[in-house]
Amino acid sequence: MMTSLKQPHWLGEQHAMIREAVRRFAEKEIAPQSETLWEQEAFPYTLWRQACELGFTGLPYPEQFGGGGGDWLSFVIVLEELARVDCAVANALMANATVASLLTNYGTSAQKERFLKPILDGTQIGAIGLSEPDAGSDAANIATRARFDGERWVIDGAKTFISNSGTEIGGPTVIAAVTGTRPDGRKEISNFVVPQGTPGFSKGRKLRKIGWRASITHELFFEQCAIPADQLLGERGAGLRQTLAQISTGRILIGALALGILQGSLDRSIAYMKERRAFGRPLAEFQGLQFKVADIATHAHAARLMLYDAAALKDAGAPFDTQASQAKLFASEHAMTAAHQALQIHGGYGVMAEFPVARAFGDAKVLEIVEGTSEIQRMIIARTLLA
Ligand SMILES: Cc1cc2nc3c(=O)[nH]c(=O)nc-3n(C[C@H](O)[C@H](O)[C@H](O)COP(=O)(O)OP(=O)(O)OC[C@H]3O[C@@H](n4cnc5c(N)ncnc54)[C@H](O)[C@@H]3O)c2cc1C
Repeated sequence: MMTSLKQPHWLGEQHAMIREAVRRFAEKEIAPQSETLWEQEAFPYTLWRQACELGFTGLPYPEQFGGGGGDWLSFVIVLEELARVDCAVANALMANATVASLLTNYGTSAQKERFLKPILDGTQIGAIGLSEPDAGSDAANIATRARFDGERWVIDGAKTFISNSGTEIGGPTVIAAVTGTRPDGRKEISNFVVPQGTPGFSKGRKLRKIGWRASITHELFFEQCAIPADQLLGERGAGLRQTLAQISTGRILIGALALGILQGSLDRSIAYMKERRAFGRPLAEFQGLQFKVADIATHAHAARLMLYDAAALKDAGAPFDTQASQAKLFASEHAMTAAHQALQIHGGYGVMAEFPVARAFGDAKVLEIVEGTSEIQRMIIARTLLA
């Protein structure tokens, strides 16, 4: 697939090389499998291993634990290029990264050795369990509980919508649970690392979705699930703080997936408009359609600048929370519009599952919901403006 992508002029040679390598991989290895993975709602095991071997998965994490020691801007480009071809496959890396960030930032050396290494080298895949049937946006209101019996933590509760859960190579799931009540009456929430196979930890049904179909999503159940005290992540009561501290990074990464959909929608639309004819002319000659691609290209460029800026701020150690929310909001909402317009440009073929624009349509919708819905992003942005 040819691309109309224009890199920001200030990007260096190294970032261009990473983009080139990921694009080659995505087009050669992912594209031929995308439709089957979508059809079968199957986790892309082979692609996951290949992406790990190429160093894409652990790119921004410490070399000491098997990461690439790279920058976050590079990782944004990795996700963008993967999602340009298949957003659901890209989400395997995104959800795994959320776990890797928590373990990197808050894990003990022993936890990093045991849980971080295998999800960076690809032998396992990580999942993050925050959302519950009755608490998504309102994460402080989760009901899963963990009780310390003097020796072990015993967890009871349920999680839902958990990406990367229930795979054959499932590794650590980091889950949030209520461990008490704070002096101000609010719930005390702590994070725990629960490896697959722990007695009392089971997966529920595989959830069937209109988007991210090749990203496996399960319900998870914890019944008298006992784990050793050293599987508490960081301090007791720090769970929500840990999650909120890394969620802005997650927003940049979801924004990167949205940017991939924007660029993929643009590239596929341009190619189709040049090839498809109506009324004796190529679609490319109709101004009504020209305006659609002009808008998608403009939004892709703006989203790219916003996302790269947020990633560069993170790399520089500067605050980036508001920029991350704005970039995620902008990129995901425009990805949805772009996916819609790309489908429209493809006419009836755009509705057919064999066409990537049809599959990207469902994927784009997911991005307006995960890692904080559009409404939640607007709340965060407004809060900083009005503080
Ligand atoms: C495919 C998929 C994969 C996911 N993967 C994971 C995962 O790996 N781990 C995980 O923990 N979670 C995951 N999630 C869950 C996701 O994070 C939640 O769906 C999301 O946070 C929204 O929560 P909710 O679905 O409970 O919606 P709700 O919180 O019930 O919101 C419903 C609607 O109300 C709006 N709303 C809520 N509060 C307000 C408010 N104060 N003001 C205005 N509007 C409001 C929301 O924006 C939304 O439109 C996944 C979800 C999906 C769909």
